Amino acid sequence: MLQLPFTVDLHGKVAVVTGAGGVLCSMFARALAQCGAQVALLDINEEAAKKNAEEINSEGFTAKGYACNVLEKASCEAAREHIRLDFGTCDILLNGAGGNNPRATTDKEYYEPGDISREDIKTFFNLDPAGVEFVFNLNFLGTLIPTQVFAPDMLGKEDVSILNISSMNAYTPLTKIPAYSGAKAAISNFTQWLAVHFADSGIRVNAIAPGFLVSNQNRALLFHEDGSPTPRTDKILAGTPMKRFGDAEELIGGVLFLLSKPAASFVTGVVLPIDGGFSAYSGV
Ligand code: NAD
Repeated sequence: MLQLPFTVDLHGKVAVVTGAGGVLCSMFARALAQCGAQVALLDINEEAAKKNAEEINSEGFTAKGYACNVLEKASCEAAREHIRLDFGTCDILLNGAGGNNPRATTDKEYYEPGDISREDIKTFFNLDPAGVEFVFNLNFLGTLIPTQVFAPDMLGKEDVSILNISSMNAYTPLTKIPAYSGAKAAISNFTQWLAVHFADSGIRVNAIAPGFLVSNQNRALLFHEDGSPTPRTDKILAGTPMKRFGDAEELIGGVLFLLSKPAASFVTGVVLPIDGGFSAYSGV
């Protein structure tokens, strides 16, 4: 079972988590289920969503996996109809589907003379607009469309909220990933927009901005086989006042706090950095 930093009471709540076939959102789904919510795990990868839901069920909590493409309204609506039949209407929406794509990533951090005419590497000048569009769509529309579909379930209810996932790159862009950085900046901005738009309707809308985490997916990028840090790790840690990576589990406290009405009833439009001080540090 997942070790929670504290629990909040989510009994009677229906939580919809997109991207829940993935690393972070399957963990968030599990945390919400352990707090008593009935959790719908949505992912374009239906098998992963179902497998993660079954693991939650096997620990005695309530969850179910659903196929859902967050970029297709009809797909979100179809998932919503199944969820309504299985659990009821949505109280909590965690918009977790997102990410970068190699087609929207430059090979180099800095422009060097002559790069403009190179075709053998991905430069700013030959980045594929379709790749950029993919990343903007996945992160931005992939948050907007599920919100269009699930927020109507929340209207007229008392204790409902939405949580988006931004990133460190939203504050200051990270090298090589202009589209992902811009798309997450848009998520932070959109979180504020939604918070204002729904303020009178009682839907609180917040986001977390995770800092640099070590996961099985990126461990090889960050550490050599002998455990020594790669140059990328040195740069990240130099920019992180707490001088370490975060553990994914360290995001859970922020998620539970923002989704809990007793804890955060007057909190809306906030993007909470969980980053060891990275976003606060100028480097000097
Ligand atoms: P992940 O790749 O493990 O999970 C993302 C999930 O989204 C996958 O299961 C994928 O199948 C799903 N997905 C992709 N396209 C989809 C679509 N069109 N419809 C429905 N589902 C779709 O990623 P993660 O690391 O767990 O990241 C989750 C969120 O956290 C993302 O928004 C990511 O940008 C953000 N984030 C992650 C980190 C990190 O260090 N991992 C840091 C900052 C922000």
